[in-house]
Amino acid sequence: MSHREPFPSLVITEDAFIPQGSFAEAQAEYLSPDPDVVSELDALLRTKKIGVVAHFYMDPELQGVLSACEWPHVHISDSLKMADAATTMVEAGCEHVVVLGVDFMSENARAMLDAAGHADVPLYRVAADPIGCSLAESADALEYGAYLTEASRTKNALHVVYINTSLRTKGKAHALVPTITCTSSNVVSTVLTAFAQVPGVEIFFGPDTYMGANLLELFTTLSKMDDAAIRAVHPDHDRASMQAVVERFHYFRQGTCIVHHMFGDEVAKQVVEDYPDAFVSAHLEVPGEMFRVALQRQRERDAGVAGSTSNILAFIEKKVAAAIDAGTTERLPFVLGTEAGMITSIVNGVRGLLRARPGSGVEVEIIFPVAAGAIAEAPDSELAVVPGVSGGEGCTTAGGCATCPYMKMNSLDALLNVVRTVGVADDDLTPYFPRKYLELIAGRQAADIGTEPILHMRAFSRAGRLSDALVQDITTRAAPAASTGSDASA
Ligand code: SF4
Repeated sequence: MSHREPFPSLVITEDAFIPQGSFAEAQAEYLSPDPDVVSELDALLRTKKIGVVAHFYMDPELQGVLSACEWPHVHISDSLKMADAATTMVEAGCEHVVVLGVDFMSENARAMLDAAGHADVPLYRVAADPIGCSLAESADALEYGAYLTEASRTKNALHVVYINTSLRTKGKAHALVPTITCTSSNVVSTVLTAFAQVPGVEIFFGPDTYMGANLLELFTTLSKMDDAAIRAVHPDHDRASMQAVVERFHYFRQGTCIVHHMFGDEVAKQVVEDYPDAFVSAHLEVPGEMFRVALQRQRERDAGVAGSTSNILAFIEKKVAAAIDAGTTERLPFVLGTEAGMITSIVNGVRGLLRARPGSGVEVEIIFPVAAGAIAEAPDSELAVVPGVSGGEGCTTAGGCATCPYMKMNSLDALLNVVRTVGVADDDLTPYFPRKYLELIAGRQAADIGTEPILHMRAFSRAGRLSDALVQDITTRAAPAASTGSDASA
């Protein structure tokens, strides 16, 4: 047995939810913030009219303090909503904004504020030093430019860019190749829908090499399944079309984040080594290590499932019902490889099942293969927070960014230092300003053109298909004569 900390987990009984280990600690930190700190922060924000926008990878103590503030202009979300929230706060009367996150998030918020006509409103990061994100920065590197040039010379190319990149990256990319943004929650459906909808499309995914490799592995595995299993994942695909997907899906090879890579591998290793008897489930929209482990358990001894939320719930219910029928009173462990937003329905479903068969004595332990500090709000459940991340954003849905040393620069002390300094020694905060995107891209402002790939993603989320405008762009923009797509292929 290893000496690693166990994953956070939740025991579900007929009558209670019982957080275990690091989940219990994180929940306590979140639910019981220091009241003196809360009241000081709340008063400073209110007096100085400072809005705070924070990414949900902040640690539980900081999230707990922010959530306890009564000042209404405090917002915790993914980076996309952070930029919108900054603008909304200013329009509601905030005279300053503080951003908690890595630098591309504050830069995006700054660019959106400027674009909305609020260039005069100061926006601060919480450190004088760079709060970098190696993944986002890898999309600014020359190598990524070469990758996109390759894409631009490929017939019917579509660039699927991960959300965690700057508006400048998105804008520069979209100027070269039709580009749509994705999150880890919608990347599988975006890619598979594009392949089904646009004949001959070549997809260039980036900059996250780790996610790209996982996606290719997922598609390769699917291409070997039978048609019915493939249609359960995407109704417009079968074995033949999945083989074409594998051939025409390309991903960037130099977009790594060391935290992400080490963390993802460690998670899978820990599940295999420390939870040999657990059932393992993996959501298909969470491509990665857990998918492999779940399939392996499924093949070996019907102890795994990879599928949709309802597939996972049905699997858990089947195992729980079997335990109840067998008269066992053991605790059944399930490793849940999914993002926080999908957890609530699963834990509530399990609870319902246990209550439907009262007195069985069966307990279910839901094990979350995530970073100890990664928590997300769970407003639809009796639990205030659950382990994991929401919104499908970040370097992994296992919450690897919560362990990132850059993210950790956004401490409670760093936030207090900035809000105490505002209005007292404003000049000292000059190094805390984010970089600005002043250049024009293809004759347009970076914030303007960089928003288009996000709007394409929003249109896809609404309609379940790529917009006609994007499809037309894909099929008319490329320069087929110089096509060398296979060079970049996985
Ligand atoms: S862990 Fe997350 S925030 Fe940190 S460098 Fe990697 S992708 Fe960026």
